Amino acid sequence: LEAKEEFEYSSLAVDVMRPRRADPALAVLTQEGMTVGETLVESTHYSGFPVVVSQESQRLVGFVLRRDLLISIDNARKRQEGVVSASQVVFTEHAPTQPDDAPPPLRLRGIMDLSPFTVTDHTPMDITVDIFRKLGLRQCLVTHNGRLLGIITKKDILKHMAQIANRDPESILFN
Ligand code: ADP
Repeated sequence: LEAKEEFEYSSLAVDVMRPRRADPALAVLTQEGMTVGETLVESTHYSGFPVVVSQESQRLVGFVLRRDLLISIDNARKRQEGVVSASQVVFTEHAPTQPDDAPPPLRLRGIMDLSPFTVTDHTPMDITVDIFRKLGLRQCLVTHNGRLLGIITKKDILKHMAQIANRDPESILFN
């Protein structure tokens, strides 16, 4: 990531993050209550998923890579007795209470990054880019008042930079 000077036009994290207003909502996993069949690895192609306390709270718990989810589910299906599509996926420390006849839960806390990097929606992009560079981030989450709002990947930043470079400087000044 280079060309820092191009961020002098002071874009904010909220201008670069996904989803955009017209996009489908951010694809998140809840720390409990979802099943193996609902883990989004089949219905989306994102490289990773934020894990939240609940859909209502959107309070961030961690971040899990698609690759690690796929490997864990695959391994569990092969080895762990009884893990099926209807098994609950659990990112909490303690196993959930569930009905006696429920299939065993798949416990995945171990593959979750417990402190994913976050910025607030109003963080200037020049600072965000600095953080990406210095920490070698692939993605960063965006929050507002502790609620998860979106995600910025390294590619999102590169695309944003390219857009700025192609734009007529006058249109930037007078917008
Ligand atoms: P990359 O940006 O390297 O292609 P992804 O495939 O993960 O990485 O993301 C593709 C696009 O989708 C990016 O614009 C990114 O901001 C967005 N995105 C990434 N993860 C999610 C997610 N869990 N929910 C919604 N959008 C996401």
